Amino acid sequence: MYKFYPPSENSLDFCFAIYQYPLAKPLLTHHGSWQFREGIVIQLSDESGKCGRGEIAPLPWFGTETLTEALKFCQRLPSRSIDLAPILGEIPEALPCCQFAFASAYQDLFSPSPPPSFSPAQLCYLLPSDDEVEERLMILLGDGYQTFKMKIGLQAFAVEREKIQAVLQQFPPAGRLRLDANGGLTLAQARNWLTFLGDFPQVEFLEQPLPPHQFAEMLTLSPQFPTAIALDESVSSWRQLQACYRQGWRGIYVLKAAIMGYPQRLEDWLRTHPIDAVFSSVLETAIARQQVLRMASRWNHPERAVGFGTEHWFSP
Ligand code: MG
Repeated sequence: MYKFYPPSENSLDFCFAIYQYPLAKPLLTHHGSWQFREGIVIQLSDESGKCGRGEIAPLPWFGTETLTEALKFCQRLPSRSIDLAPILGEIPEALPCCQFAFASAYQDLFSPSPPPSFSPAQLCYLLPSDDEVEERLMILLGDGYQTFKMKIGLQAFAVEREKIQAVLQQFPPAGRLRLDANGGLTLAQARNWLTFLGDFPQVEFLEQPLPPHQFAEMLTLSPQFPTAIALDESVSSWRQLQACYRQGWRGIYVLKAAIMGYPQRLEDWLRTHPIDAVFSSVLETAIARQQVLRMASRWNHPERAVGFGTEHWFSP
């Protein structure tokens, strides 16, 4: 049972709506081509008409519920006069995006706070994997972005290495590049990448080189190379995060808070476990984005950019 604060004895009304946005261009990752962001916006309102909103932004290939499963949960809830405590405090672990959305909506209703603002220098900009990257990089550097992310593990190592090298040659000394394999490399490929990246101090980290079941290999690999390794898919749920910490991971953790269940539970854990955290987007809309950025302003590693330079994926 998860306890909501402040406790509310008033009954609330509930409504929801599905959304679907096409991405500006398909996002290619080792998990496949992502073309539409689908989710559910939920709203809780009290008798005075005050509202709080939350967002269910599923990412099934990271182990969350599907949109259909989230929708079924919403459809089962009564729309009027909900007695919140017994329902919202016991949303199943299999519905982490629902846990996040309802707890966030509750917080938005009872303790709203202004959206945090981040400058381009504090955000990591997710670059598309196309041929215009180098031109775009010059413009973005001029706009104040310093940290960038690119997906790898989609083409042969030699092809991608050449592309990354060309990008790195344009980097200013203060620039940082994150490479995300989404668990798509073999152990031999991961070693090749880490050997190559060791010559480039602007590479901040290699994200999730191996699939989550190869956690032990990543743990062994990490101290062998100068480039840091970050876990993402390995720590995409609340339970996985705790398990990786217990098993000794002290490297970087990419946290997708919108899919990790009750936000206050995560914050309580972070208070007692000072990990090297990088908060990251699941291409959620402004509703969940602002709620996650509030958490990031408290718990993201202060010298690392937040993985939310993603708004351009929503606009043409
Ligand atoms: Mg990632």
